[in-house]
Amino acid sequence: MSKTQKFRFRNLYITQLPPYDMVAFKSYKIATIGSHSALQILKGAHDEGFSTVAICKKGSEKVYKSFKVADKIITLKDYKDLLKIQDKLVKENAILIPHASFITYMGFEDVEKLRVPYYGNKKILRWESDRNLERKWLKGAGLKLPKIFNNPKKIDRPVIVKFHGAKGGKGYFIAKHEKDFRKKIKPYKDEKGYVIQEYILGVPLFIHYFYSSLTNELEIMGFDKRYESNVDSLGRISARDQFALEKVDPSYVIVGNIPIVVRESYLPRLMEMGENVVKESKKIAPPGLFGPFCLETVLTPKEEIVVFEISARIVAGTNPYVEGSPYTWIKYNEPMSTGRRIAREIKIAVKQKKLKKVLG
Ligand code: ATP
Repeated sequence: MSKTQKFRFRNLYITQLPPYDMVAFKSYKIATIGSHSALQILKGAHDEGFSTVAICKKGSEKVYKSFKVADKIITLKDYKDLLKIQDKLVKENAILIPHASFITYMGFEDVEKLRVPYYGNKKILRWESDRNLERKWLKGAGLKLPKIFNNPKKIDRPVIVKFHGAKGGKGYFIAKHEKDFRKKIKPYKDEKGYVIQEYILGVPLFIHYFYSSLTNELEIMGFDKRYESNVDSLGRISARDQFALEKVDPSYVIVGNIPIVVRESYLPRLMEMGENVVKESKKIAPPGLFGPFCLETVLTPKEEIVVFEISARIVAGTNPYVEGSPYTWIKYNEPMSTGRRIAREIKIAVKQKKLKKVLG
């Protein structure tokens, strides 16, 4: 059966051959590692008409089978083995969508080496993975950052100590002065390095953006805060009982994400922050940051917005919005998750013959 006939068969009212690009995008497959925000990414790709591939570690396949988001599942012993199946993915005409677990499991040096088409600018990974470069980038964008203490003797306010290897907030601790710091750092002798950062008192706010390299437009996709163990449960125990318990130090182990809608009058500032980050990224790592990204902030009672980290890709905080957030609903008038927005961008890029503009 020819393409024309197939098309007629499925769409009785359309008698012409579908435009080249409508067929062209379907020859690509959207692939990602089965973890983090893969359900959303693959579902979004399906919604846009793509076939999908989930690359899973043994044992995690059942999730992607059960939710029927993957047309193909490739099982690996270790995510690092992704480098070994590159030819297979290239043959599949797959486009890899990165997420935080993808980068963590593979390491940014291996991601840089990938030959499989990759959505996003790989040059930005280095800037995001190195705390010093990240700081330089965000400072260059004019954002307010927490103070860093290079010498524990100088600690003059509450600080949060973050280990370089730590992921998902594991092992972080709070200290109030040098003595407290020295005592609490003792069990972490094997850690390779850490940063002592001013602890910002306020509410956490994670801002989800999407920047289109095709239209040069910045979109607000939504907001979330994290549900972290045990810091989010400390308020359930009175201060008296906390004292009575032997050791109740807060930890920041991520468990999930909770949606937020912000006060509307904050939006102009939040948009400007995102625009400045993109503008600066074009200087440091041309062609700059594009696609989804997130500024991780704390908003203080003085209405300062202090940025403690940037994620230069889709964040798990967008997962509550598989059907879209209030913001994407207003903009698109149809369900638009961040995963779907990525697929749509790729689809438009194929249509406009600008695929290279969205691949890194
Ligand atoms: P990820 O890489 O997944 O973003 P992470 O391990 O780098 O996580 P952070 O996001 O840096 O961890 O921090 C974990 C949590 O600690 C945050 O969600 C926030 O609640 C808290 N936090 C981090 N930095 C600060 C700070 N400077 N002031 C107040 N709270 C902070």
